[in-house]
Amino acid sequence: MPETAPDTPPVLRFAPSPTGLLHVGNARTALYNALFARQWGGTFILRYDDTDTARSTEAFADAIAQDMGWLGLVPDRVEHQSRRLARYDAAVARLKELGRLYPAYETEDELEARRQSRRRRGLPPLYDRAALKLSAAERAALEVDGRRPHWRFRLDGRQVAWDDLVRGRQGVDTATLSDPVLVREDGSYLYTLTSVVDDIDMGVTHVVRGEDHVTNTGVQIEIIEALGGPVPRFGHHNLLVLPSGEGLSKRLGHLSLRALRAEGEEALAVASLAVLTGTSRAVEPVASLDALAARIDFGAISRAPARFDPAELSALTAATLHHLPYEAVAARLEGLGVGGFEAFWLAVRGNLAHLSEAADWWRVVEGPLTPVSAPEDADFLAQAAALLPEAWGEDVYPRWIAALKPASGRAGRGLFHPLRLALTGRESGPEMKALLPLIGRDKAAARLRGESA
Ligand code: GLU
Repeated sequence: MPETAPDTPPVLRFAPSPTGLLHVGNARTALYNALFARQWGGTFILRYDDTDTARSTEAFADAIAQDMGWLGLVPDRVEHQSRRLARYDAAVARLKELGRLYPAYETEDELEARRQSRRRRGLPPLYDRAALKLSAAERAALEVDGRRPHWRFRLDGRQVAWDDLVRGRQGVDTATLSDPVLVREDGSYLYTLTSVVDDIDMGVTHVVRGEDHVTNTGVQIEIIEALGGPVPRFGHHNLLVLPSGEGLSKRLGHLSLRALRAEGEEALAVASLAVLTGTSRAVEPVASLDALAARIDFGAISRAPARFDPAELSALTAATLHHLPYEAVAARLEGLGVGGFEAFWLAVRGNLAHLSEAADWWRVVEGPLTPVSAPEDADFLAQAAALLPEAWGEDVYPRWIAALKPASGRAGRGLFHPLRLALTGRESGPEMKALLPLIGRDKAAARLRGESA
């Protein structure tokens, strides 16, 4: 069993801020969490980190749920931080009681001036904890002046260590960090606090997120311990970067899940690329999210940035379609107006670059189409029509060819190409062996005679 095997059903969450559309990098995080929960019979929570009311919108929250649905990720539970303010109030009261939260009154300009002065003196630009030294009278005077406090968490300033699911033993020395602000001057809460409160309340057992959160984890473990909560297991995966080395950001609209979907990329291809890029495992087409879940191995995620090449996506979409079982696609085929049955799907899937092309092949099968033929093939095609077997069935094509070949004296391209053109109106496509039984005898005969059918 891998070292990551949980003892009890795990609880994981994906916690986007609804301030933009999900991109492939977000999908990577969502998939790691959702699929790990799925693999171990656990719970997957979608948690909207929406305490930033100025930038969070209902429309983005809906879009996130839809895009996750497109990927096939259905959360067991949905939570909104904006509806949990009473829980944060309680945690703040507790931290104040414990003496871990202290009021500070500096303005952003004052803080910036101090950071600069520390830099000039060769010191790291840390918060100097001046507010901790304020007397009650000084604080009262500031408040009379109209200043409202923000609240900082007093770090222990120690080595906080954990066994990271991805990175192994990790440590953050919180003595090298500024005491984080947990409550803004306007009373709103910062993610550093709300995330911890939620993870404790919701019984989150595994927090899997991007490596840009490693430092946060050091801080958050201190807060979790102060609040007496169990410390979950943390895993920090590498971040996706484009071949140019540029990171993905919400501004990169063309890599939003929405844009990729509109371009006809397959959700399973996006998922496979998002999960397997930047790991020691090969990126390959998968037939289902369960199959992808079985490939998740946090220990196989590399430490270097994950180079994500969007150009690989089209090839992976095609390869995914070529192996997709009928059940996985039946409903979507119906949505495309494709009458759809398994034999049709198996006949055409190997020729598709995008699923929408199945509709074109359905029209070829169903007709009517105008056959294409060269004048010099007219006699041959008439002969081919006359030799069409009466007994129709899956093996009709080889039986027909076996009769037509000696009768016409044709072979190779001279035999096959005119038949394909007449029957499908196209130069190339799925094997005629699979298409002909679906086209049916009457339509085939008509097309060979040059009639539209
Ligand atoms: N809202 C945070 C983010 O999107 C969540 C990080 C976390 O998983 O704790 O970065």
